[in-house]
Amino acid sequence: MEEPLKEKIEKIFGEARSALSAKYYMDAERLFKQAVELLKETNDASGVSACETEIENVLKESASCSPVPAIDYHAHPMFRDDLKKSPALSMATRHFRMKDEIIPKSIEDMLEDMNKANVEKAVIMSLDSSSSEHWALKKSMLSNDEIARLVSLYPDRFIGYGSVDPRRGDAVDETERCIKELKFKGMKFHPAAVSTYPNDEKLFYPIYEKCVELNVPVQSHCGATGMYFTKIKYMTPLLYDDVAVDFPTLKLVLLHYGVGGWHDQAMSLAFRHPNVYLDISGSSPRIYPQSLIESANTPFYQGKILFGTDYPFIGMQSWFKAFKQLKGFDWSEETQKKVLRENCMHLHQSEPVSPLDILRKEGVDVPPDAKR
Ligand SMILES: [Zn+2]
Repeated sequence: MEEPLKEKIEKIFGEARSALSAKYYMDAERLFKQAVELLKETNDASGVSACETEIENVLKESASCSPVPAIDYHAHPMFRDDLKKSPALSMATRHFRMKDEIIPKSIEDMLEDMNKANVEKAVIMSLDSSSSEHWALKKSMLSNDEIARLVSLYPDRFIGYGSVDPRRGDAVDETERCIKELKFKGMKFHPAAVSTYPNDEKLFYPIYEKCVELNVPVQSHCGATGMYFTKIKYMTPLLYDDVAVDFPTLKLVLLHYGVGGWHDQAMSLAFRHPNVYLDISGSSPRIYPQSLIESANTPFYQGKILFGTDYPFIGMQSWFKAFKQLKGFDWSEETQKKVLRENCMHLHQSEPVSPLDILRKEGVDVPPDAKR
């Protein structure tokens, strides 16, 4: 074999091996395939067959896990006993047809599930619905301090989000404590659990203002919910259009992409607002609408969709199994990397897009005191 070609193959092989050990299966597969093509040119039959075995192993190892180290934007460290104790969540386990044996028993089970699915990190969150009128929703689903404790135990695996019931008198102070003291990276809301519209100017707006000031994203439920005893009129997508218009620099993630029939409306929000994102957790990829699957590959949505499961309601490995069998699925490598990992990093590391700043930079006359 000529020296430069041999060197080239060795280099590709080395890169494929390091991609494999970093669990970038997608890259490993592509690189091994490149090596096969070059080996064929050199008539190295044994090299070709060794390389093909490597590809088979990559495919086998990654059959029910993420093709790149993923970040799950929506997971709950909730276990068998917690789910049984909560009436609303017991109903959710029925809704999701969860069999007892797949429900994790401990944080160790959860970490093992993450490892098996090649999920490097997960966003975990509390839910404060203490002011709920409904007896079944009064008890918080994990407190802010419990989430902070778990993040401090596993800082490389978890990203914490706080939650505050907007009807609490100290809602803004607690939001500030979540971010400044507990070091959470964002806030989570479930408007239906607290019977408050997300565009409620008195109750929600001061919290959003604080989140803009601290530059942290807000994630909020949008569309149907598996949480029983709630009314979903509080979570239809157009309510969030008000929020995005009134807070143009708030990074807003619509949880569950308006599942249950509102996905087109939720998608139109992500389309028109530079800082609105869609979380695709809460349902198996098997029921993703075709418009969502197809648009992910376009420049309008590629950077706007965040992978999430809603673990333990949707298992991480079963999500990836279903994801790989999606009909008409042809996401580019770039789209997969963004949706499964990079969009989540970008959400937490970037400054929001500021439409008024863009106009000012372009020399458009914007009143100096204009905020939106
Ligand atoms: Zn959830």
